[in-house]
Amino acid sequence: MKQYGLYIDGVWKNADQGAFFDVTNPANNEMVGQMADAGAKETRQAVDAAYRAFPDWSQKAAKERAVILERVYDKMIEQKEQMARLMTMEQGKPLAEAQGEVQYAADFFKWYAEEAKRIYGDTVPSSSPDKRIWVLRQPVGVTAAITPWNFPAAMITRKVAPALAAGCTMVVKPAEQTPLTAAFLMEIMDQAGVPAGVVNLVTGTHADIIGEALLEDKRVRKITFTGSTEVGKLLMRKAADTVKRISLELGGHAPFLVFEDADLKQAAREVLASKFRNAGQTCVCTNRVYVHHRIKEAFADILAQEVERLQVGEGLQEQVQIGPLIDEKALTKVERHVADAKEKGAKVVTGGTRITGKEWDGGCFYAPTVLLDTTQEMLVEQEETFGPVLPLHGFTEEEEAVTLANDTPYGLAAYLYTHDLARAIRVSEALEYGIVGVNDGMPSTAQAPFGGVKESGLGREGGKYGIEEYLETKYVSVSLK
Ligand code: ADP
Repeated sequence: MKQYGLYIDGVWKNADQGAFFDVTNPANNEMVGQMADAGAKETRQAVDAAYRAFPDWSQKAAKERAVILERVYDKMIEQKEQMARLMTMEQGKPLAEAQGEVQYAADFFKWYAEEAKRIYGDTVPSSSPDKRIWVLRQPVGVTAAITPWNFPAAMITRKVAPALAAGCTMVVKPAEQTPLTAAFLMEIMDQAGVPAGVVNLVTGTHADIIGEALLEDKRVRKITFTGSTEVGKLLMRKAADTVKRISLELGGHAPFLVFEDADLKQAAREVLASKFRNAGQTCVCTNRVYVHHRIKEAFADILAQEVERLQVGEGLQEQVQIGPLIDEKALTKVERHVADAKEKGAKVVTGGTRITGKEWDGGCFYAPTVLLDTTQEMLVEQEETFGPVLPLHGFTEEEEAVTLANDTPYGLAAYLYTHDLARAIRVSEALEYGIVGVNDGMPSTAQAPFGGVKESGLGREGGKYGIEEYLETKYVSVSLK
């Protein structure tokens, strides 16, 4: 069993009162480890450390920072297996997905190790011969990251890697459900030679208190958050008091449009990849499938056959493709959504129940589900289900499908399947989303800009765009007179 303290100023320390909290496995409710339970005081100590470390780190040659980030990548790959196993135990996702996440998470270090060397400024022609206009890009300063449990490693590295590459320092507050992977990552960064104070870890069960301490501190110049829209709005309001820069990656309600010309098998493969990854617990997972009426029944049959083949179980077991949901609350939400859909007339094609019985005791398992003929009035089409439930909604006209797809406060990811090029271009341009997958249910990658519009968030993570969030622009005007 793992027991971790807080990682502050390059050392591991206990929380002030020596308090710990338990981290459990959602597949069986067994304890996986314990984590230090910090409050405001330890959070301020972490900010102190990040503040002290900033001048040295930001003034290092970019190449020097790049070498350290590259080493973090190497160490993550070396320890991929241990990290993935720990992640599966505390989060529940199948081991193969956890291994995939460690690779994806490490890729951000690789990418930003390279990007650190390409932070270019500008010189702008001035209006007079004896003036010069220089534009510098400088790190914003001390930053803070608050991250969720669904990607315990990648949601941290997607923030830490560009921040460190830009020359910022950071305090990380991971989700209370998955702090062990975060602590493991800190060990790796320590081994890779990230200097003391450059990255710090604060964990605890009182997210509001830790959040408050980070938000009210004037020295923290930027908050970057991935999580619910509700908490995102709260942080945005609080950030206003000290005018912090803010990046938000919030909830989504991804539509997947399947047109009548689609190859149904291939379209089903992409829908399944998008829907059932992480048991449906990602903010880019498909929430609603709009399928042309002519192919609706056939598509439902193909999906049902594939879904029934999915192996549900404890993530460390081989062959398992769907793990447990994160907790009982998540399970109850899925049950509520399915009950509501049934009540309002949707048909359960397959699944539709929680999985019970002796061997499943203590686990939060829900059968992968396909619902047919869902409507806009149903919760599944309004709220993020965050579970393995696939609602199918028929349409006739392209315009109707696009209008339905856009009729939501969210705007993170959307998908479509068609072989008609003109339609693919037309529809991807009309969808009010930050990410569009054309015949592609898995668009996330380190070098592309990830983020949403509307109430799905602000800012982009990944690629050359992600580092912008950690840079200020300074204009230097030089007179030669
Ligand atoms: P989810 O519903 O997926 O758990 P949350 O938005 O509640 O999403 O959680 C995402 C992250 O935000 C977690 O690290 C959580 O601890 C943190 N969090 C939750 N509430 C607050 C808050 N009031 N202030 C700061 N952070 C918070």
